[in-house]
Amino acid sequence: MTPFVFQSNIPRTVFGAGSLAQLERELDLLGARRALVLSTPEQRATADGIAERLGKRCAGVFDRAVMHVPIETARAARETATRLDADCAVAVGGGSTTGLGKAIALESSLPILAIPTTYAGSEMTPIWGITEGGVKRTGRDARVLPRTVIYDPGLTSSLPTALSVTSAINAIAHAAEGLYAQDADPIHSLLAEEGIRAIAAALPRVIANPADLDARGDCLYGAWLCGAVLGAVGMSLHHKLCHTLGGSFNLPHAETHTIVLPHALSYNSAAAPQAMARIARALGAHAAPTGAYDLAKTLGAPIALRDVGMPESGLDRAAELATTNAYWNPRPLERGAIRELLQRAWEGRRPD
Ligand code: NAD
Repeated sequence: MTPFVFQSNIPRTVFGAGSLAQLERELDLLGARRALVLSTPEQRATADGIAERLGKRCAGVFDRAVMHVPIETARAARETATRLDADCAVAVGGGSTTGLGKAIALESSLPILAIPTTYAGSEMTPIWGITEGGVKRTGRDARVLPRTVIYDPGLTSSLPTALSVTSAINAIAHAAEGLYAQDADPIHSLLAEEGIRAIAAALPRVIANPADLDARGDCLYGAWLCGAVLGAVGMSLHHKLCHTLGGSFNLPHAETHTIVLPHALSYNSAAAPQAMARIARALGAHAAPTGAYDLAKTLGAPIALRDVGMPESGLDRAAELATTNAYWNPRPLERGAIRELLQRAWEGRRPD
């Protein structure tokens, strides 16, 4: 048995169809009286529904969450929370909205109650990100970890099928890298394998019938587990590549994760055989890299970076950035091999 250190920081979780009905009780438990509801502009109607059910306990709605939390938006949200005398943020949405809640909490320690509507997993992590002058800074801080998370699969049934696939594979990527993390531990590895298994089994059912609440629930359950892994153990090459491609080339978050994952797994395959066997088993596939590729392709997700706006002329720079200040990785990073990985991902080739 490999030596390990285990620590859990999984927030209080309320899970199940209809669990949004527990919102008031959960706010009571937090001692919150004036909740500021956060959302993207696209999910304003969902936020208004929550504001309506909270009645006087709603301090207001701030609907300007966008990807990567620009500092200007963070400042505006912080000012709104102070002006309205909010004592809690209710973040309803995906990683962008949770991220905005975290930006407020980072400064004020305002407690966050998150209601995720994608599979990205940010609600389970103490990781924040804020973009200033085109550069995204990230960090870990216990103040930004939501205190309570309500997972209601009914809120995910409106997630478009394309985003459902890529968001769910984004979740799988957290678990896959968690299985070969330097600080992996047996409990989070169990969560990781079960998370991948649940998503891989449920995702085709979601795509066949996006209103299938059982399938949606299974996917969200998997996303919860995968998010818990992301929050607990270190990430490696795959997340570094996606961070680089998203931050420096403005590529879409979930799609980039979906495209890169098979190639990052292929790169690490020989260096992490036990993790790869667990990923493959959870995917129900012969091998982890091809299993991840086939899952994405079969469900109609993009499989080539060239199809999501990556210029081929940027691949050299991406390889250079990804190997600078690199995260720990089971296989040492070799610039030439990373460049080749990116070429394959750009073309959308199936891993060997
Ligand atoms: P997102 O939050 O940006 O949402 C994408 C779009 O889908 C938005 O327009 C949103 O309003 C819409 N949407 C979300 N749920 C919906 C639903 N159920 N029905 C209809 N529309 C819906 O996407 P995301 O992939 O969840 O989050 C990406 C962001 O989160 C990135 O900035 C990423 O860096 C961050 N992130 C952070 C962490 C962390 O631990 N800090 C983890 C994962 C992702």
